[in-house]
Parts: sequence; structure tokens; C-alpha cells
Amino acid sequence: MNQELDILIKDGLILTLEPEAAPIARGYVAISGGIIIGVGSMSDLKEEVRAKKTISADASLVMPGLVNAHTHSPMTVFRGLADDLPLDTWLNEHIFPAEAAHVNEELVYWGTKLAAAEMLLSGTTCVVDGYFLEDHAARAFHEAGLRAVLGQGVIDFPAPGVPDPSKNVAAAREFIERWQGVSDLLTPSVFCHSPYTCSSSTLVSSKELARETGVFLQIHLAETVNEVQQMKSENGLTPTRYLDSLGLLDESTLAVHCIHLDDEEMDLLAERNVPIVVCPESNMKLASGLARLPDMLQRGMRVALGTDGAASNNDLNLFGEIRSAALMHKAASKDPTTLPAAQILMAAVSGGARALNLAGQTGTLTTGCEADIILLDLNHPNLKPMYNPFSHLVYAVSGHEVSTVLVGGKILVENGRLSTMNLDEIMERVRKIAKRVKT
Ligand SMILES: [Zn+2]
Repeated sequence: MNQELDILIKDGLILTLEPEAAPIARGYVAISGGIIIGVGSMSDLKEEVRAKKTISADASLVMPGLVNAHTHSPMTVFRGLADDLPLDTWLNEHIFPAEAAHVNEELVYWGTKLAAAEMLLSGTTCVVDGYFLEDHAARAFHEAGLRAVLGQGVIDFPAPGVPDPSKNVAAAREFIERWQGVSDLLTPSVFCHSPYTCSSSTLVSSKELARETGVFLQIHLAETVNEVQQMKSENGLTPTRYLDSLGLLDESTLAVHCIHLDDEEMDLLAERNVPIVVCPESNMKLASGLARLPDMLQRGMRVALGTDGAASNNDLNLFGEIRSAALMHKAASKDPTTLPAAQILMAAVSGGARALNLAGQTGTLTTGCEADIILLDLNHPNLKPMYNPFSHLVYAVSGHEVSTVLVGGKILVENGRLSTMNLDEIMERVRKIAKRVKT
């Protein structure tokens, strides 16, 4: 570290989230060219080190940014529109009609801006999104500066931006071609809504497109009992076995929810190295069930956490998701030792990055990784006293303690304020769009 650094974060309580790594009580993180080039104790930092910008983390905890591996960002506009309903009723009688009537480029763009603001301010630096008119979500994320995997929605119904379903896979191809290589932070993908809303030929063509272009295929899988029954009666197979019969299950198919799986299906997903995204709060709110996260982790499966969209959560705060995951599995197993704090935190952050094939880039504070870093202000009553930072991050933090956020070494939040977005303007735009939705 002889050269002048771009950013030096100093005097902080550092959690690298590397396996078995102990917290560093008073440490530093050195950043140059958007990359972490050193992490350690202040006592090991040479006095002559200079930086263009120094961030004092004196009363702060410094850790990797959070990974939200599943959401539909524009749905922030539908937050609280319809609650307390079963998924089928919620989707068919409320969400699908609202989307058909109101989703346009403006809604997708401003809804995504609001989502990006909410996620950054609660510590998420990497997100996986899937929706329609995804170009406008991509534009919003590009301007906001988050790291994002973005999926153009594919469904066998007329959809916003793709009124003719026979063109849905072609639209996904155009999206991928437009966004591949645009930014180091953005990765396009294909987002098939589900096995029950896409035909077998749509599913197979989407996977072929994903393989050909080297991107993820995202898909909701085994979310409800109804889905399993419907797929069994139509195809004679459960949704998971059905996707396997079509050759869709591999290390680049991001399977979201995975609640209704038998042991054999779980073994199959593990054998195929399928990355799984579990969305505890959305699953609880829609009473879809409980994905067997502890069993998945025990099998060594790659698992990430996601919030799902704001219409079924109803926030995009990943700290809430981490806490919910820990608590619900303790309650379900009647065993308080299930998913201890350090395990669920590591699973969500460094494990989340691994599920997205981003280990070595994000998810840990490691020399050579991208500088995706958050600082939490520890001067809050809910964080006093502190014996164990892992415990606080899972059981006591609300997310509002996040004071500073860096993605790729760029400061996107400083002293609790967004530096790349005008939050007042975003909220006003969304308020106006919501007025049309409500009438
Ligand atoms: Zn979803």
C-alpha cells in the first residue's frame, strides 16, 4: 500500500464475513480503483498511508453490503395495495389487473428508483431484479449505482411492453443484447415467471437463450401447494421434476422460493448445483409456507435470501429478512439453536454472493474484492450495549442505522443521505403515479 489510496475507512469495528474470521475491534479498509486492497487492524496500518478521502468509522460497524437476491423493484408502487390474501387471489384479482392497467415505462423507472433508494439506505448493495419493461429498471439501477442482475420478464400472457406473448423470449434476447457489457455493475438475465405461467416451449427457449448468452435464468419455483397440484395434474410431475425433465435445472438457474420440495427434490436441486433464493417474509405474508433453509444449508446448497417485491413483503430491507429467517426456523423447529446469528448472517451475505457466482467479487471484505461496503452507526439505543456484533446484526438492527454505503468503491450513501439520487423527487413522482393506481 505505497500508493495514495482513493478511500481509507479507519477506526471501525470490522466484520469481513470471511469464514471463521473474528471481528477486528479497531480496524481499517483500504480502497483503490474501486477494489479493496487491504483490511486489518489499525495497529498494522503504516502511518505514512495517505488517502484522497478518509472515512472515520470511529463509532461504526463496517461490513460487506447485503445481497437481495430476489425482488421486483417497480412493485414498490403497489406496496400496500392488497394485503392479507392468498397468493392466487392476490395475484389474479389484484396484482395482475393493476399491472395490466398501470405498468408503463414511467412506473417501472420511478418504482425502481424508489426501490434502489430503499435498498441502499438499508444496506443492500447487490440486487437481483425481475420484471417487465426491465430496460427502464436497468436505467434506474444504472443511474443509482447498485450492483444488479436484471431479468426481463417472460410470461405466456400479454405483458407490459410485450403485448404478444409469442415475442416474449425475443424481447428477453433484445434486453440481454442491449445491456451486456454496458457496465461492470449490471448483468442482464432472463426471468421466467413460473412453470405454471410459461409453456414448456417458452421455458426451454428461455433456458437456451440463457445458456447461449451466458446469463442466469430466474424462475419462481414450488411456491404454493396449488402450484404443485396444478403441475401434477397437467404434467404428472411436481414443478421441480417438471423443470428437470425439460433440462432447466443447472448452476445458472436461480430457483426462487422452493418451499414445497420433498427430500428427493431437494437432493436433485443439490445434485444439479441449483442456486436457491428463499424469501421468508413474502412466504409468511402470503402464507405460502416455509422453505427448508436449514436443510438446504446442511446439504451445502448455494442459498441466498431475497425480499421479493414490495407488494408482498412489504419492504425491501434485507436485515428484516435475515432476522425473520432466523426466528421463523427456530419457531418451526422448536429448537432455538437452529440458524444461529453468525450462520444466518454469513449465509445471507457471503452465501448470497456465492449463490450468484459473485464470491470473490462481493459478499466479503477481502483483498481483491470489489469495495461493496456498508457502515452502520452504532450510536443507537437499540444497539447498546454490544457483546456480540453478529447477534446485533441479526436480532437488534433495524436497517436505519446504515450511514454509509459504497458500491465498487463509489460512495452512494454518506451520513445517511443518498448521493446519486434525489429522494424527494423520487417520492413525489411515485406519489403521483400511485394516485392513478388508486383511482
Ligand atoms: Zn417474486
